[in-house]
Amino acid sequence: MPFSILSYAGDSQTPFIIKIGTFLYDHLSNSRQKFKNFKKHKWYKGPEPWNELEPEVLKEGLRGGAIYYDNNIDDARLTLEIIKEAVARGAVALNYIKVLDYVRDQAGKLTAAKVEDVITGDDFEIRAKVIVNATGIWTDELLRNFPRKVIRPTKGVHIAFHQKDIGNKAALALNHTRDHRFYFVIPRGKFTIVGTTDTDYEGSLDEVYCTKEDVDYLLESTRHYLPNAKLDYDHILGTYAGIRPLVMEEGKAESKVSRNHSIFEAPDGLVSVCGGKLSIWRKMAEDTLRFIQIHKPNVFSKLKVKRNHSKQPIWIGLEHGAWDIGIRGKKIPPDIAEHLYEQYGKGGIEIVKSLEQEPSLGERIFPDLPWIPAEFQYIIEHEMVPHLIDLLARRMEIVWLVHPRDQAKVAELAAKIMLQHYRWDNTRMQKEIVEYLEYVQRNSVFLKFEKR
Ligand SMILES: Cc1cc2nc3c(=O)[nH]c(=O)nc-3n(C[C@H](O)[C@H](O)[C@H](O)COP(=O)(O)OP(=O)(O)OC[C@H]3O[C@@H](n4cnc5c(N)ncnc54)[C@H](O)[C@@H]3O)c2cc1C
Repeated sequence: MPFSILSYAGDSQTPFIIKIGTFLYDHLSNSRQKFKNFKKHKWYKGPEPWNELEPEVLKEGLRGGAIYYDNNIDDARLTLEIIKEAVARGAVALNYIKVLDYVRDQAGKLTAAKVEDVITGDDFEIRAKVIVNATGIWTDELLRNFPRKVIRPTKGVHIAFHQKDIGNKAALALNHTRDHRFYFVIPRGKFTIVGTTDTDYEGSLDEVYCTKEDVDYLLESTRHYLPNAKLDYDHILGTYAGIRPLVMEEGKAESKVSRNHSIFEAPDGLVSVCGGKLSIWRKMAEDTLRFIQIHKPNVFSKLKVKRNHSKQPIWIGLEHGAWDIGIRGKKIPPDIAEHLYEQYGKGGIEIVKSLEQEPSLGERIFPDLPWIPAEFQYIIEHEMVPHLIDLLARRMEIVWLVHPRDQAKVAELAAKIMLQHYRWDNTRMQKEIVEYLEYVQRNSVFLKFEKR
C-alpha cells in the first residue's frame, strides 16, 4: 500500500530527513524478497503534485512529501492463518484453554501445565518437555516467582470512519500537531482508520477501551491535516483499543520504548518470548526455537533450526493467480471476491463453494459493503468460535467498522446461523446477542459525547 509522508514549513521532519528516511526504508528491507519493496519511494516537491495525489490534504505550508510502500493487514486474520499453518504442519491448537498453574518435578522444573477449559470448567494437565510462554501482555501473569516485571503495557487506539467522509486516497503518515508523534490515516476497503496512540496503561488487561481523550487527541491533529474531512463524533463508526506488550524499559517515554523482542528462561524452565511486533512474528518464532536448541540441547536432539528457518513458504498460502482460477466461472461481484481473497486466502475458496449450495448466503449484509453471511458459516465451521463475540470481534472487524446503530441487525443474522450450527435454543441466542451488543456499547464512548 502507498503511504504519503509530508513535510510542512517549520516541521522538524524536513524534506531532507524524509528523503533519507524513505531511502533507508527501501534499502534496509531486502529487495530480493518477494512482497518487499513492491515499489521504490518517490519524492514529490511542493504542494502542486499533491493536488492530484491527495486532494483533501492541507496544502498551506506543504514543502513536499514522499510516497513509500508498506503493508497493511487485518491482524486477527494473519494470526488465524498462522495458527492454521501450524495445524497443517502437525500442531494441535486449542481455544478457551487457560493455563492456571504448573506441575513441577522434585528439582522444581516444570513438567506440565495445569489448565482449565473455560467453556466447560473442566481441569486437566498438558505435559510438555518445554513450555513456552507467548502470552503477550499477560506474560508476567504466567511467570511464577520471577524477580522482576517484564512487560510495560502501553495502550493504543484506532478510530474508524467511512473513507468517503475523510477523503484520503492512500495512507498518510502524519506528525501529531501536539507532540509530533507519528500516526497514520489508513484506507481499509471503504473505510479509513485513524491511529494510533501510545500511552502507558495501568488498568485491567482484559478490559481496555478507547476513551474520549484518546478520540480527541487523534481528531485534533487529523482535522488540521484534512480540514474538509468529517472528523467528528457523528461520523465515527467505531473504535478499537489494544495494549502493546512492550519489554519493560524504565525512564523512557512510551513511544521511545524499544519494539525489540526478548526471549529468556526462568529458573523453573519456563521459556518466555515477549515484546516485538506482529510484523516480525516469523523472526520471533525462529529465535525462540533457536533459544530452545541452544539452552535445552537435550530436549529436542533432532531440532535443527537453520538460518532463515522461518522464511519457508506457507503451505496454506494461495497466490492470486490460483485464486482467480479457483473462482473462474463463479458469479461473484469483484469486490466480494477480492474481500474473500484478502481475508480468507485459500479459505475463501470454501466460502465460494458454499454459495453453490446456499446462494442466499452470498447476499450482502450491507448494500455497499462486501461482507456476506457465508463468511459467518465458514468461520463457525473452521475457526473455533463458541461465542458470537468471537465471530464478530475476534475473527472479523465488524465490531468496529459497523456503526452501533447497525450492530443489532448483523448480530441477529450471525446469531441465527450460530443457533442452527450449535443447536442453541432461543434463550442462548438472545444472551449471546445481548453480550455482544453490550461489548459494542462499551467500545462506543463517542456515542455519549455531547454534540458540538
Ligand atoms: C494499537 C496497537 C497497534 C499496533 N500496531 C502494530 C503494527 O503496526 N505493526 C506490528 O507489527 N505490531 C503492532 N502492534 C503490536 C502487535 O499487535 C503485538 O506485538 C502482537 O499482537 C503481540 O502478539 P502476541 O502473540 O505476543 O500477544 P497476543 O496476540 O496478545 O497473544 C497472547 C495470547 O495469550 C493468551 N493468554 C493469555 N493468558 C493466558 C493463559 N493464562 N492461558 C492461556 N492463554 C493465555 C491470550 O488469550 C492471547 O491469545 C500494535 C499493537 C497495538 C495495541
